[in-house]
Amino acid sequence: MKPSAKIIAVSNQKGGVGKTTTAVSLCAALAASRVPVLLVDFDPQANATSGVGADPTKIPNIYHLVNGEAELDDVLVGTELPSLHLIGASPDLAGAEIEMAGLEERNHLLRDALEPARERYDFIFIDCPPSLSLLTINGLAAADSVLIPVQSEYYALEGVSRLTQTIELVRESVNGNLEIEGLLLTMTSRTNLSSDVAMELRGHFGSQVFDTEIPRNVRLSEAPSHGKPIITYDLASKGAESYLRLAREFLSRNGRGI
Ligand code: ATP
Ligand code: MG
Repeated sequence: MKPSAKIIAVSNQKGGVGKTTTAVSLCAALAASRVPVLLVDFDPQANATSGVGADPTKIPNIYHLVNGEAELDDVLVGTELPSLHLIGASPDLAGAEIEMAGLEERNHLLRDALEPARERYDFIFIDCPPSLSLLTINGLAAADSVLIPVQSEYYALEGVSRLTQTIELVRESVNGNLEIEGLLLTMTSRTNLSSDVAMELRGHFGSQVFDTEIPRNVRLSEAPSHGKPIITYDLASKGAESYLRLAREFLSRNGRGI
């Protein structure tokens, strides 16, 4: 049997919680250990695309793969890390949603489009947009598991409960096999609020929460404007260190301990 990539959707309906930062940084950290990884940008904001230094207006991209205008080899882009490939997005993707809505197979377009990529990588990460759009449903329908970044702030748990409802809905309708890869605390700080949120999340979700937490780190917020993942932008930063630790934890949870 050919090897088959595990597909992980990085999703949270709440905006600005660290989805794209996590998708880009974790993919890069895995690729640094020579794990073959594909990052799929499925957000019209195209932040993951520019985050690895690719041009978001470059076509063809995921939009053209999903609508059948392009083949896999036309849309794969290399990055400065040899083990990390990208399928980029562009603002056009917002329009794709309207086109997709009329199709009978509308929920599974991304799953079908990524099928031929499965044999080439160990892991495929999908950076989903915020809000519960048809794009997000496609991301969750295509995935084996969902990784949920949770920003350690007051309303975090509310967002998570909405997402767990969404996951239930997705399981009942489009993807009965969707698992939870893990919840990841992001932008943590040494405030009481941050540690209260962490404690509450761990109390509620137990071992589903990654041991690794991602601290608020200014280098992580600077890296995207340089088109570089944190591990190539500033390897010595706390942000790089924490995503490298997350990569080790992720591999070990997936039976790939190093
Ligand atoms: P959207 O919902 O719009 O797609 P998102 O969930 O993908 O947002 P990001 O774009 O990853 O969130 O992060 C939001 C902002 O916070 C960005 O400016 C990013 O650089 C910054 N950021 C993310 N994680 C951290 C961190 N650990 N420390 C400091 N800044 C961070
Ligand atoms: Mg994003």
